[in-house]
Amino acid sequence: MLARTSHHLFQPLLYQVATGILSEGVIAPTTRDVLAEQRNASVLLGEVTTVDLEARTVTASAIGQQTTYSYDSLIVAAGADQSWFGNDHFAEFAPGMKTIDDALELRGRIYGAFEMAEVAAASGRHDLVERLLTFVVVGAGPTGVEMAGQLAELSKRTLAKEFRHIDPSSARIILLDAADEVLASFGSTLAGRTARDLTRLGIEVRLGTKVVDVDAEGLTVESRDGSQERIEATTKVWAAGVQANPLTRQLAEQSGAELDRAGRIKVNPDLTLPGHPEVFAIGDLAAVEGVPGVAQGAIQGGKHAAGQILRRLRGEETGQPFSYFDKGSMATISRFRAVMKRGRLELTGYPAWVAWLAVHLFYIIGFKSQVQTLMHWAVSFVGRDRSERTVTEQQVLARLALEYLGEDFLRTSLRKPPGAAPSAPATDS
Ligand SMILES: Cc1cc2nc3c(=O)[nH]c(=O)nc-3n(C[C@H](O)[C@H](O)[C@H](O)COP(=O)(O)OP(=O)(O)OC[C@H]3O[C@@H](n4cnc5c(N)ncnc54)[C@H](O)[C@@H]3O)c2cc1C
Repeated sequence: MLARTSHHLFQPLLYQVATGILSEGVIAPTTRDVLAEQRNASVLLGEVTTVDLEARTVTASAIGQQTTYSYDSLIVAAGADQSWFGNDHFAEFAPGMKTIDDALELRGRIYGAFEMAEVAAASGRHDLVERLLTFVVVGAGPTGVEMAGQLAELSKRTLAKEFRHIDPSSARIILLDAADEVLASFGSTLAGRTARDLTRLGIEVRLGTKVVDVDAEGLTVESRDGSQERIEATTKVWAAGVQANPLTRQLAEQSGAELDRAGRIKVNPDLTLPGHPEVFAIGDLAAVEGVPGVAQGAIQGGKHAAGQILRRLRGEETGQPFSYFDKGSMATISRFRAVMKRGRLELTGYPAWVAWLAVHLFYIIGFKSQVQTLMHWAVSFVGRDRSERTVTEQQVLARLALEYLGEDFLRTSLRKPPGAAPSAPATDS
């Protein structure tokens, strides 16, 4: 198991780390711990930079050191990255939510905005307060809906009584999407119900609205009729799109497989690459008819690929097509409110919320994390508090600082003798 992080991440609960309900350790146990009992599995840290299908090797880099590994069978499951639809510069001011780093950065930005608003109000700079207390979530899929719902609860329940110069419950929360519905993949009945629930929570739901520019102090949006509007908002969250991991380009070039618009690689029905029965591409980076980019697609794809490899090792026939079983979709809106769809069954409100809790608790890895999650949920959903509100300056600044210092920074600084001065940035731009 070769991966660029040492943890396994349960992405569906990232928004709860970002809003202070859960700690990062609960949703991201170390992969080494998860696989500790599996004696034939070895866990290695490394960012895969090159896959050579002809030579059957994978080259990975860990903290500046490159290693090449050979394989008999390869499963590529490197997932997807956030997509800003060709506007990567938006990321500076509107971070996405795909990693633990992203969630912690967002936590710092969200709680930091309330702190800065209090400072502004206390020092008489009331003109800044509205902008600091405006939160915009871009993308009204499950992640955006859950994030907007939690921002509303945070401002109205958790923080309501803690500040002296601002009223946190007056925070403006805007959920934007270029589509005509929230949760478009859930069908119009659940979409309509979700939009009504969000509005009742005080969230402004603005559909048919596209983001055309983002900066430190706000964003510009465009309506269907082409009219543009400026929204002043310090905190922006990007939950709008994903792009398959760039490794798919290498795999496509070498195998002749096609990529779809999201950069996902089109695989054979058995999830292998054309001409390479020993290489599987699964999960968010694979394009398979009828399989959505959700956790079940990845989990079931992983089981299929592993099953195929075992069959080959046992000398049995391989090449059976992957068949996907849709276990349904769900999203929480706020405390006690969720929507759920499974086949023709549609649930809303409290029953859907309880089902959501049960399913997510079941999929959290490890008994210890499950107990901790239950306790944190009790604190936030029965009570009003959040257990994980600590934020640090580095949470907010580290990503941008590392980008500024450039790619060579890590490698060169690690080679420096102790006490040497840090490298200067590559450019002063
Ligand atoms: C915020 C959020 C909420 C979600 N909510 C839900 C939900 O409620 N229900 C649901 O079903 N799905 C949900 N999803 C989608 C679900 O998490 C994904 O479909 C699933 O994780 C895909 O699994 P995967 O194994 O393909 O990729 P991932 O889980 O993304 O795993 C890919 C791994 O590969 C590593 N990696 C990437 N590139 C390299 C490289 N070059 N070298 C080494 N390692 C690399 C990554 O660090 C990562 O550990 C959500 C996703 C997000 C981001």
